[in-house]
Parts: sequence; C-alpha cells; structure tokens
Amino acid sequence: MRKLQDYRIIMNSKEIGFNTICTHLGEIKDEQFKGAVSPIYLSTSYAFEDVDVKRYPRYFNTPNQEALCKKIARLEKGEASLIFGSGMAAISTTLFAFLQKGDHIVLQRTLYGGTANLVNEEFEKHGIQYSYVDDQTMAGFEQKIKPNTKVIYIETPSNPLLTITDIKAVVQLAKKKAITTMIDNTFASPVNQNPIELGIDIVLHSATKYLGGHSDILAGAVVSSEKNIDQVFQVAKNFGGSLSDFTVWMLERSIKTLGIRVKRQNKNALKLAKWLDKQEDIAAVYYPGLKSHPDHKIAKSQMKGFGGMLSFELKEGLDASKFQKELKLIKSSMSLAGVESTILSPTLTSHALLTEEERRLQGINDGLLRFSVGIEEKEDLMQDIRQAINKIKILELEH
Ligand SMILES: *Cc1c(COP(=O)(O)O)cnc(C)c1O
Repeated sequence: MRKLQDYRIIMNSKEIGFNTICTHLGEIKDEQFKGAVSPIYLSTSYAFEDVDVKRYPRYFNTPNQEALCKKIARLEKGEASLIFGSGMAAISTTLFAFLQKGDHIVLQRTLYGGTANLVNEEFEKHGIQYSYVDDQTMAGFEQKIKPNTKVIYIETPSNPLLTITDIKAVVQLAKKKAITTMIDNTFASPVNQNPIELGIDIVLHSATKYLGGHSDILAGAVVSSEKNIDQVFQVAKNFGGSLSDFTVWMLERSIKTLGIRVKRQNKNALKLAKWLDKQEDIAAVYYPGLKSHPDHKIAKSQMKGFGGMLSFELKEGLDASKFQKELKLIKSSMSLAGVESTILSPTLTSHALLTEEERRLQGINDGLLRFSVGIEEKEDLMQDIRQAINKIKILELEH
C-alpha cells in the first residue's frame, strides 16, 4: 500500500493526468475512519487555532471549500479559485471586482442570457460603461476599445450557435493595452479548453453545467492567479455568494467523473452532428467539430475536443415545437450539460426576451433547436430524432 506521504508527493507533481486530478486532487483524507470519500464539514463556527485563520463559510475557507478550490484551480491550470452559489454569483462578483465607476468593458454580443441581463440591467446604475462586439473579429474588438477599457469578456463556444472566438488573438490585443481578459468557459469545460494556457487572465464557470453534470447542483467558479483571486475575494466576502458545503461536497463527487463524461459527450455530439448533417429533413447543423463550421479551424487550434453542445434547424415546414413534443428519450428542458440529452428552442425559451430583430442579428431563427448531447447510446438518440421527424411529417400530411 502507498503511504500517505507518497500520495501527497504524487498529487503535488506537475505530471499527473486530467482524470487523476478529477478523481483524487483536493480530496480530504478521512484520517479518523479511513473512509473512501471526503468527509463533509458543516460547521459555521471554528475555534481559532491562531488569530490569522478565521474559518467561516462566507469567507470561502471551510475545509471542503478549500479542498474543492484546489481541484478546480488545477483542472483549469490556474493558481487559485473560488466556488460560488451559482454561475451568475461567480460572474457578477468577478466583474464587480475588476470594474469601478467610470470604467469600460468590451463584451462579445453572443453571451449567456443571464450575463447579458446583468450588464444591461445593473452596469449603468453603477456608472460602468459597456460596448458589445457584433462580429467577433479582432477588428471588431479593437474598434470598441476606449482609453478607460479595463476588461474584455468573451464566451466561446457561444450559445446557441456555437460560434468560436479566437482566444489567442483576443489575449494579444488585450495585453498590448494592459486590459484584463475574462472568459466564460462553461460550454467547453476544462476537458476541452484551458484558456489560461492560451493567456486568458480569468476563467469563469457555471458549475451547474458540465462540472456538476447531473442536473442537480447550482454552483459557479472562478479560476485565476493568486493575486486576481484575492481581488475577487475582497468583493466576494461582501456580496456573500458562497456555496453551501453540502453542495461543495456533491460538486467534488461529480467532478470525479468529469473527464469520462465530457469525453463521451464529445464523441456522441460529433457523431450526431455528422449524422444530422446528412439528414434531408435538417436544414442546418452548427457544431464546431464539423469541417463545414465557419470557425472549425480556430476551434481545432484552441480546443482539445469540440464539446457536447450542438444546434440544428429543421427544414422549412417542419414545426420545431411539435418536433420537441414527439421526442420520447430526449427531454425538452431549460438547462444543459447533464448526463441526459436535453433540447430547447432558443426562440421560445433562452432568447424569448429578445426582439425578433435582435434574434435575427444573432442568427437565431424559429426553427433552431439547441441540443445538449448526453452520454446515452448515440443510436438511441438518432432513433428518437428520426421517429419524431417521421411523426410530425405524418401530422403535416393529415392536415
Ligand atoms: C448556465 C450558464 C451561466 C449561469 O450559471 P448559473 O449557474 O445558472 O448561475 C453562465 N454562463 C453560461 C455559458 C451558462 O450556460
């Protein structure tokens, strides 16, 4: 048997692989009973060992929080991380930690809806200026930069059309002007994309999605250098968005299978994208792993896998909401990235609050469906889509 000392040396080694980090790093050893998994520490009050360490859940420093932060930081190749009660808590706290009254931020237009709402509804009242980049080209980003620009914020692959932003190019542009770069890496997950390796300063996650992976956890995370994470912490302790230790424990457990889940989802999504592309009832497929995707080359250069998210459009005349109702295995649901496949219509749900014109500008039409591919057998998913299309075609004929 390996002695504890050896185990610690292995865990500190730079060489350990992704799935070993997922399974073992940042676990709390159960010294008392030698249990296989980390114990949960639920105390909100800890006796002072020395006056410098004051443990308290809202200070993000309970034993379970600290252990999980190590795991997440390592997965994203950062120095440190903080975990929050939701993705939006991580995103809002981090943005407010790096932006003050009079500052300006440049954001890509195709953002997660909640992030866009945060910017549109909260920034002006705090005196923070913002500009959106419509075309995602570097000239587009450069044009929007002002003397008071402090942050560039990107999200790639984007929701729901899976457009790709060139991470290295954004970093290069920002570095020239000493601007902090932030990325929402939720869709890719650390399995497929490590933006810190590409020069990004701060990585954000909705851990509700791939990190959690079972549609039963609401959580968020931020990963960066020690210095940046300390800057986030100074605001985070005031905003109070920390995660309960029960959920911290569930998230640690979930991440043990992150690598195998997401690799399976990558494989399923690529197979399904290629298959959908060949179906004559499908008008378009959006997946960065397809050679026909306009950003395929950039995706290939910065991603290790292309992820489990794809979108497609039914041929004109086939009703997307009727199609969804006929699906037996694939659930219609709002969230994404679980082990089970889910589908939604952006027009009716995630992008319903936009005007028709705004949706058109983002390339979202009424027949578009966003598909979060799960870990099921791909043949069963294909069969489900096939039978639903056949059913609505019969319904159309009967009309
Ligand atoms: C879900 C999601 C968020 C928000 O996360 P919550 O955990 O729901 O607060 C942010 N960004 C992306 C890309 C998401 O999919």
